[in-house]
Amino acid sequence: MSHADLDAEILAIGRDLASAFPKASRRPLKALDDKAMDLASADADLKAALFRFVDVVPACRNLDDLARHLTGFLSEVEDHPPPIKAAMKMGNSKAGRTALGAASAAGVKHMAHRFIVGETPKDALPAFRQLWKRGILTSVDLLGEATITSAEAERYAQRCHDALDQLGAADKDPNLSVKITALTPLLKPDAPERGKQDAAPRVRALLQHAKEVGAHLHIDMESLDTREAVTDLVLELLAEPEFQDGPSAGVVLQAYLRDAGDLLDTILAGPRREHPLVIRLVKGAYWDHEVVDARQHGWSVPVFEEKAESDRLFESLTVRLLEARPLVKPAIASHNLRSVSHAIAQNRRLGAADDEVEFQVLRGLGDDLQDALAARGFKVRTYCPVGDLVAGMAYLVRRLLENTSNESFLLEMQNGADLERLLAAP
Ligand SMILES: Cc1cc2nc3c(=O)[nH]c(=O)nc-3n(C[C@H](O)[C@H](O)[C@H](O)COP(=O)(O)OP(=O)(O)OC[C@H]3O[C@@H](n4cnc5c(N)ncnc54)[C@H](O)[C@@H]3O)c2cc1C
Repeated sequence: MSHADLDAEILAIGRDLASAFPKASRRPLKALDDKAMDLASADADLKAALFRFVDVVPACRNLDDLARHLTGFLSEVEDHPPPIKAAMKMGNSKAGRTALGAASAAGVKHMAHRFIVGETPKDALPAFRQLWKRGILTSVDLLGEATITSAEAERYAQRCHDALDQLGAADKDPNLSVKITALTPLLKPDAPERGKQDAAPRVRALLQHAKEVGAHLHIDMESLDTREAVTDLVLELLAEPEFQDGPSAGVVLQAYLRDAGDLLDTILAGPRREHPLVIRLVKGAYWDHEVVDARQHGWSVPVFEEKAESDRLFESLTVRLLEARPLVKPAIASHNLRSVSHAIAQNRRLGAADDEVEFQVLRGLGDDLQDALAARGFKVRTYCPVGDLVAGMAYLVRRLLENTSNESFLLEMQNGADLERLLAAP
């Protein structure tokens, strides 16, 4: 197939998916959130103030405290738009502050619930059932970032075991995503072996449990400084004889890393098992961190610095993954209609059926795409974070940053960018 034919096919697929997006009016609350996000993305100072506010919400003692923080952060913003002016005025009296505190607490909670399904897997079950009923698969992510002590790692592992039991009993296709840094406090770049050794027994126990209940265990990928240790740990454990015939397991490949192709070579040379390894292809969620970290240390920047380069490597890795079947099962995780339509077109070009590739989206960000993919009969899995608001703050801030970044596909689409341009080759 020529490039021109492929691009025409991608355009047709993308247009068709876009026409299956739910109408905005069906999601009034989302439209409101989007307005707030618009406001934030248009003004860097306001965005910074709101992020700082979201960060301190869990530590606030009461509504008055919350309102003081909000007006404090907002007072640093020059040229307030009208809604912010009104908020600042309310901060002048105790009654005003209480009302403002209540409104902002409700706002943050509402925003968090867009991304976080429930406090526990059990609380989240009704929402999961709604999705399962519509043929949408889920992966549960138990929120809890950077574990500092062994006791925290143990508690996190126990929550994962409880979730495996609950999902094993309720879900036909139970799937849990875990982060290795939540399972050990010792995963540090300068002593990777110690972190691996500390995490290994907990990850092994989770693999054993997943096998028992027939669940899939997915290992998320975090920043580059832990990538090698995480990949080695998972591949070593999966090579152990007891895991030859299960469970299903998976890793993540981040296309914003210049050397992501080399990691794919390593993974493809890994252990052959009865269950092909699921490889979730993403662009990567730690872009700002990787750039700042490298510059601070005087290292060359490991991620691409032009967005189109990440998009292009994502597309070539998509093809490599599709071609590597049945050794691996590709899961294309993106909210970018071009990246997704490209994967659909390439999958068809290779003669595979549409349901031989899985698409994955994040709850709260990829809802429209999830609905469109499900409506067109594609296999789609939604990654659903579960946990309390405090544990969810780091997650929430990352998602908000992602959604308000000027180079985000979602923001461009929301702002009405031309569909043909959005679907053009990167
Ligand atoms: C189901 C699921 C699971 C996920 N799991 C993980 C995970 O384990 N680990 C992880 O890191 N991420 C994970 N992600 C997050 C994922 O990396 C982000 O959602 C993704 O980067 C956004 O990409 P997009 O294709 O949806 O959007 P797009 O808007 O097309 O791409 C945005 C991305 O492009 C890249 N980018 C932005 N600016 C630049 C620039 N100037 N130069 C180069 N690249 C740039 C960044 O990666 C940014 O996130 C997951 C996402 C999903 C949907």
